[in-house]
Amino acid sequence: MFEQMEISGLADLHFAADPATGLRAIIAIHSTALGPAIGGCRFLHYASDDAAITDAIRLAKGMSYKAALAGLPHGGGKAVIMRPHGHFDRTALMASFGRFIDNLDGRYITAMDSGSQVEDMDAIATRTQWVSCTSRTGNPSPTTALGVFEGICAAVRYRLGRHALDGVRVALQGLGHVGFELARLLHQAGAMLWVCDLDPKRSASAVQAFGARQVATDEIYRIPVDVFSPCGLGAILNDDSIAQLQCSIVAGSANNQLAEERHGAMLHQRGILYAPDYLINAGGLIFVALNHARAPARDITEKVRGIGTELLALFKQADTLDQPASQLANARAQAIIERDGHRNGNPEPHRRLAGGHQA
Ligand code: NAD
Repeated sequence: MFEQMEISGLADLHFAADPATGLRAIIAIHSTALGPAIGGCRFLHYASDDAAITDAIRLAKGMSYKAALAGLPHGGGKAVIMRPHGHFDRTALMASFGRFIDNLDGRYITAMDSGSQVEDMDAIATRTQWVSCTSRTGNPSPTTALGVFEGICAAVRYRLGRHALDGVRVALQGLGHVGFELARLLHQAGAMLWVCDLDPKRSASAVQAFGARQVATDEIYRIPVDVFSPCGLGAILNDDSIAQLQCSIVAGSANNQLAEERHGAMLHQRGILYAPDYLINAGGLIFVALNHARAPARDITEKVRGIGTELLALFKQADTLDQPASQLANARAQAIIERDGHRNGNPEPHRRLAGGHQA
């Protein structure tokens, strides 16, 4: 565990167990150099404690990079709550988690993530102010989907020279809060969709609503399309899946898409344009951070629409330097954290960001 922390440059790791509610939670704070750590709270079944810890550590680093590249005054953090098996009182468990967050005195602000919902954030808010995505502020997923949509438009313009998505073929993996909304935006823009989800009912809904073609979960990588859009869980870009891809662009919402940093280089070598996950999916974090700062809705939308422009600049730089976009984005995020951390008088010199694994 300590080695994992050192490799990812994690600042600190916190644990809470509350047998009365069944709470078993981990909060990973990657950095507070730019401001309080911010990042969602996963509420999923995990095969082991180690799997949950690894998930929290990897995701927290991605949040630091995401906040830095989005120009937000925040560091990165992530919470993982291990979903209990059998019956449990969800409201009591989330309230207990709220107490855990409150003990950190504002070093970490939580939000929705895979498996958690607005009602959970409301329960957390009964115990702490360090929470976003409550029923007052709402669900960030549509804003994340909008940012990913803008990113896909930018990538299609750059790589395919097309200024509209009409007839563009997209394979979409995962039809949850973000994926389903993204499918709607893509369909409205005239894209053709191939979809899959672990839950076949979700795929069936997309078939009905958007005329999508349903494919098996192990088939999605092999569909000849323009864009592969991973919107499920992480580490799905690996030796096996990259070898199967038949697309020009990978651009989706999932966090931690690259199983290892070298897989960004592998995509580059295969001539596949990759939109780094923490850049293209920053819409949700922008929504969470600006809502917490009580910014007007139009400022949030404007900033999220800027994701396409940011990606275009990165794609051009990657081509000019003949370097993977993922590596350039990592280097830029690290430079911002070190530069602005010093400027804020909070350089965290003993926790310099290690290269290692991306998010
Ligand atoms: P979600 O839990 O609502 O949906 C995920 C969906 O993906 C589920 O329907 C699940 O069945 C499906 N799925 C998981 N693995 C799959 C696989 N291998 N093949 C096919 N389907 C699979 O989650 P979400 O909120 O939509 O988020 C999706 C991804 O985007 C996650 O990685 C999340 O961390 C990331 N993300 C979400 C937000 C947000 O605002 N919700 C913001 C940034 C990043």
